[in-house]
Amino acid sequence: MIFTLFKFGGQARMEPKKQHVCKTCGKKYYHQPNLSRHRKFECQKEKSFLCPFCNYASYHKYQLKSHVICQHKEKYSDFLSIK
Ligand SMILES: [Zn+2]
Ligand SMILES: [Zn+2]
Repeated sequence: MIFTLFKFGGQARMEPKKQHVCKTCGKKYYHQPNLSRHRKFECQKEKSFLCPFCNYASYHKYQLKSHVICQHKEKYSDFLSIK
């Protein structure tokens, strides 16, 4: 969609810019919905769910859980006993 805009704006050869900037941390996004999601769920939040088996970290518990299920399936029962 954004490409179409650029095409008809006389800047067809330009790369689309990351023009949605988080005012809080300066992170840049191509698309507004990604910035909204960032501000809602990620900005200034710690990745507080750490994988006990590798250096993976996530913002959400369900992400960590699915990570453990995918990456450390055989250790999943250990993981449950840790938490
Ligand atoms: Zn931010
Ligand atoms: Zn892991």
